[in-house]
Amino acid sequence: MREDALVHAATGVHLVHGSNTNWVILTDGDAVTLIDCGYPGDRGQVLESLADLGHAPDAVEAVLITHAHNDHIGSAEYLSRTFDAPVFLHEAEVPHARREFLHQVSIGQVLMNGWRPGVLPWAVHALRSGGTADSRITRPQKFPVAGALDLPGRPVPVHTPGHTAGHCSYHLPDKGILISGDALVSGHPTSRVRGPQLLPTMFDANRERAVASLDVIEQVAADIMLPGHGPIHHGSVREAARRARELTS
Ligand SMILES: [Zn+2]
Ligand SMILES: [Zn+2]
Repeated sequence: MREDALVHAATGVHLVHGSNTNWVILTDGDAVTLIDCGYPGDRGQVLESLADLGHAPDAVEAVLITHAHNDHIGSAEYLSRTFDAPVFLHEAEVPHARREFLHQVSIGQVLMNGWRPGVLPWAVHALRSGGTADSRITRPQKFPVAGALDLPGRPVPVHTPGHTAGHCSYHLPDKGILISGDALVSGHPTSRVRGPQLLPTMFDANRERAVASLDVIEQVAADIMLPGHGPIHHGSVREAARRARELTS
């Protein structure tokens, strides 16, 4: 894969830039936790990113999901069916993953926002990459325990709803890293802002809750942020949440 697509964040922690969405690979020896997995069309890159780190896909002990948008769960069902990897997410996101409902930006909303810079090229890419494909997960599971998960990297789920009802970020306390998903990003093809920010409003199921979740993120002790979109962010995550809040007011 592209050389700059695989970013070493800390020992056993890599951020991977897919075609438009990021995922994170946590490793502990031979075992892997995969957090998110891009668009359906990103499957080749998911497998390549694992291979580049020396792992076969059956090394994935579990797939953790920040939220069940198509650009984050594209290969979850494939990994689950083919390699028996369990797929874990927040309880409130489980029915979303099963597609009992879909809280995702609609084509109508995208068209209404088509005048905004970057929106149409983003939409074309999203359609080509399986953004509207059926990515449902047949057997999504809620987290088996509260607190740190007994998986490579020992990630701690942090419920950060708003973008979707069950959106979770993942904290790696001993590394000072927050995997923020779409609750706090550092860039997006449809945004001109660089650095910490919320996604454009049309992408959030509940904007008020998304803004309120910045309070939750402010409480997280971390100085590296690995977002669902945009580059790795070095610096206080508390400060990043504050900057994002300022931009919303
Ligand atoms: Zn999303
Ligand atoms: Zn996203």
